[in-house]
Amino acid sequence: ETASPGYDAAVIGGGPGGYLAALRIAQLGGKVVLIERNELGGVCLNAGCIPTKTLLKGAELTKIHTFSSEFGVYYPPPTIDFAKLMKKKETLIQQLQKGISHLLKKDKVTVINGVGEIVSPNKVKVTKSNGEIETITSKNIILATGSEAHIPNIPGLKNAKPWASKEALSMTELPESIAIIGAGAIGCEFAGIYAPFGVKVVLIESENEILPGADLDVAQFLKKSLKKDGVEILTSSQVKEIKEENGEKTLYIEHKDHYKEIVVKEILVATGRKARLEKLKAIGLEEENGGVMVDESLRTSIPSIFAIGDITGKENLAHVASAQGMVAAENCMGYQKRMNYELIPRCIYTSPEIASVGLTEKEANTKNLDYQIGKYYFNGNGRALTNGKAEGFVKVVRDKKYNQILGIHIVGTNASELISEGVLAINLEATTEEIAATIHPHPTLSEGLLEAALASMGKGIHV
Ligand code: FAD
Repeated sequence: ETASPGYDAAVIGGGPGGYLAALRIAQLGGKVVLIERNELGGVCLNAGCIPTKTLLKGAELTKIHTFSSEFGVYYPPPTIDFAKLMKKKETLIQQLQKGISHLLKKDKVTVINGVGEIVSPNKVKVTKSNGEIETITSKNIILATGSEAHIPNIPGLKNAKPWASKEALSMTELPESIAIIGAGAIGCEFAGIYAPFGVKVVLIESENEILPGADLDVAQFLKKSLKKDGVEILTSSQVKEIKEENGEKTLYIEHKDHYKEIVVKEILVATGRKARLEKLKAIGLEEENGGVMVDESLRTSIPSIFAIGDITGKENLAHVASAQGMVAAENCMGYQKRMNYELIPRCIYTSPEIASVGLTEKEANTKNLDYQIGKYYFNGNGRALTNGKAEGFVKVVRDKKYNQILGIHIVGTNASELISEGVLAINLEATTEEIAATIHPHPTLSEGLLEAALASMGKGIHV
């Protein structure tokens, strides 16, 4: 057993929260060690954001022949080599991992491959991959150990060997049919991956709409578009029991007042993620909402220990983990930064994409705000039409008194890129008038935000 010299910070977990925090501390002149038990990049790079987006791109490309024929460019219908697509995904992961390694090296972050365990407020025990044990002393510790799939307690589910996203993202063959339990962002993205490849997909959601929590117009739009792709969608539906026989999995589903049975080859569970908290209780870290309790500075109940990312149980998003990583890193180095969760963009990378920030119409309603909606459909947008992809809309929720923007919801191609203008506008407290007075290039999809801002004031031009 070896003991290492003191660090300013020891970061446990090399996902988008942890590796970014380590880089920031190093850039601020701190001595930092990053402990990762698997590959750098965490769930996001290895089994989350990047692999799903690669597969969604593959799914989109299956439609290229029908799409391009409208433009007089003819391709034969596609032949699918799913194993090759998975290889492409693997290459991209490795490329991005190399990028992270390079940055960490350049900034002189010590990286240790091993399992980290906090043993006291300033000590981390690391069990390295070669079995060696090292005890690290550090002024600060940043816990960035992420989350794992939550598997619900449904009779027969375990026996039926369900996939969670990690398994789904490592299969080199497409299933013949799949039931996806849970129609949140991850469930919907997987439906959007499998259906275009011809897999029979049943998407099951216990709430009465898919994407619970999203703006209703947006959720209903996505539902229609998934249905168009052939996805069978069962809302207000509870999976009560699962039986497996001869490779066929039967799901018994309670839908309102009757039962339904569906038979599939595979089951994918997408019912949320949970933080791994077991070992943290022992050292006395307090919990809140299924995560490690942190204050605005991201300090836990033990002041020398910070927590960031999915382990905090706040928002399971990579950009939130990274933003928290920046705040915690700077606070470790003596700054007084605070994390603000008000303006978090949320995107779903289905085809069409979905992106939103701020309040939904329902939330504005529940809060009794005096608001007005402005909506602009992309089928009136020159660029959307010339792109051949004019489905979707921009919806702005405006506060009537001050023209403050309360929320923006976009469905359509590149929605995930378009939302950043809205996030910046709200962040800078821009009014709908100021957005409307900002010259947007023509013809672009970005004109949609300008038009929706105008429409929210009853002054829509192209609506
Ligand atoms: P993680 O990324 O979970 O990283 C934690 C790291 O800690 C892991 O590498 C793990 O090996 C390591 N670790 C754990 N315990 C220890 C230990 N004791 N010692 C050493 N190392 C340890 N978010 C988005 O914003 N956009 C998306 O498009 C998106 N798509 C997703 C798709 C899927 C299928 C899934 C599952 C998630 C997706 N997410 C997406 C969520 C995103 O992946 C997570 O929010 C993000 O990865 C959280 O980052 P993190 O740094 O907190 O933890």
